[in-house]
Amino acid sequence: MSQSDSCIFCRIAAGEIPSKKVYEDEDMLAFHDIHPVAPIHFLIIPKKHLVNLYDADIKEQALLGKMMGMAGQLAREQGSVDGFRVVINNGRVGRQEVYHLHIHIMGGPEPLGSRGPAPLKE
Ligand code: AMP
Ligand code: ZN
Repeated sequence: MSQSDSCIFCRIAAGEIPSKKVYEDEDMLAFHDIHPVAPIHFLIIPKKHLVNLYDADIKEQALLGKMMGMAGQLAREQGSVDGFRVVINNGRVGRQEVYHLHIHIMGGPEPLGSRGPAPLKE
């Protein structure tokens, strides 16, 4: 079984599992989180399988920078006004559930809860 067969976000990137797309180009994909914790909650992923930031190599700086650089534009296009929240869960300590790097973008018309950087699953 190849990496992309076993990884749900690789399968989403390949179009094998449907997603509610926000944006797509040759390097990255953005799609709505299936369990939103904010009025606007989508994920930005690289199409290439990177596990997380903890294991990321500096040679991926262009790809990582592009995903971050697109975040504001995509959040605005989705209707997030006056800012948004970014969360990247990493590894066991970071409570990462899907081991394909993803950036949570959360926002909406009103300020989010102040109880820390959701999503926290406790
Ligand atoms: P984490 O790895 O802890 O950052 O969490 C993974 C996130 O992926 C959770 O917020 C899930 O709701 C989300 N998720 C899991 N499967 C899907 C899917 N098929 N489509 C969209 N979002 C998903
Ligand atoms: Zn993957």
